[in-house]
Amino acid sequence: MTSPETLIRPEILALKAYDVADSDGMVKLDAMENPYPLPAQMRRELAQHLSQVELNRYPDPTGRKLRALIAQKMNVPAGMEILLGNGSDDLIQIVTLACARPGAALMFPAPSFVMYSMNATLFGMRALRQELREDFTLDRDAFVARVKAEQPALVFIAWPNNPTGVLYPEQDVAAVVRAAPGLVVLDEAYHAFARKSFMPRLAEFPNLVVMRTVSKLGLAGIRLGYLAGRPEWIRELNKVRQAYNVNALTQAAALFVLERLEVLEAQAATIRKEREVLKKGLAQLEGVTAFPSEANFFLVRVPDADRTYEGLKRQGVLVRNLHPGLKGCLRITVGTPGENRILLTALREAL
Ligand code: PMP
Repeated sequence: MTSPETLIRPEILALKAYDVADSDGMVKLDAMENPYPLPAQMRRELAQHLSQVELNRYPDPTGRKLRALIAQKMNVPAGMEILLGNGSDDLIQIVTLACARPGAALMFPAPSFVMYSMNATLFGMRALRQELREDFTLDRDAFVARVKAEQPALVFIAWPNNPTGVLYPEQDVAAVVRAAPGLVVLDEAYHAFARKSFMPRLAEFPNLVVMRTVSKLGLAGIRLGYLAGRPEWIRELNKVRQAYNVNALTQAAALFVLERLEVLEAQAATIRKEREVLKKGLAQLEGVTAFPSEANFFLVRVPDADRTYEGLKRQGVLVRNLHPGLKGCLRITVGTPGENRILLTALREAL
């Protein structure tokens, strides 16, 4: 009898699917989304704009217009090229698949975004976790030494990191890139909240590409990521990309909204301000340790993460439970002022 157990690769059978909790009717603070919708007038214009999209035609395969707009709006240096993805998840998959020679290694500071190790497994690369310090800062010398010893084909660094929010010192990241013999993907998913980027320095490092997403900026629903780097890298990665990986509605919506990037940037500024308010609120709760964050979320340690997670959920607040992988830890997205007040009140109850 044919069954999945006999056919599917054992390392896939052993994987756990990326699970997303049901959030119907909840205060949704689990996925680092921007809590603010686009202004009403802009939504009406967007609807009008999207109604013009020729859905009977295939999308532009490489998103030429969108790449040009991103290059301009995101200050991609001249001479660099851009690869678009169906979210940055797609880009992580493309890069990993392209670099997965037999025996090659993929290294990352840990804990970090789960997709790095997941993709290593999917494509048969050796996943090398280099543990962060207790406070989730990067031990640069240890990381550089391991890079030199293991010679990974691929290094992923989330900057700032998910799920910790920590932004490693820029000179430490530069040291890792210089020491790495392979390609370094700097994942700047949260750059709008850290306001630091290696984008302007891309030309300095032949083995660096900068990856970003519009998800945290306010467009998680359209699924769009972009990766900027030297044409030599983009040319190879393009061969791995599915021909029409970014659909026509996504391209049209992104063109429309990124032309008006200042709207999203203003929302990001509000979120950064609100992050400071939430930080103060969390600091006042006994038993709660919030780690310093340069992103739009906080990693918090509580006496009993499972109890607190369930307690919050009962009160209609959804956060991410990272326990037991990250002992005693929850990850809480910065919401609107109202949502953050509800969270703090509910958290007091749920500790
Ligand atoms: N990188 C990091 C560090 C993330 O935290 C996330 C989302 N959680 C992603 C990439 C994926 O983003 P998306 O696929 O929505 O572009």
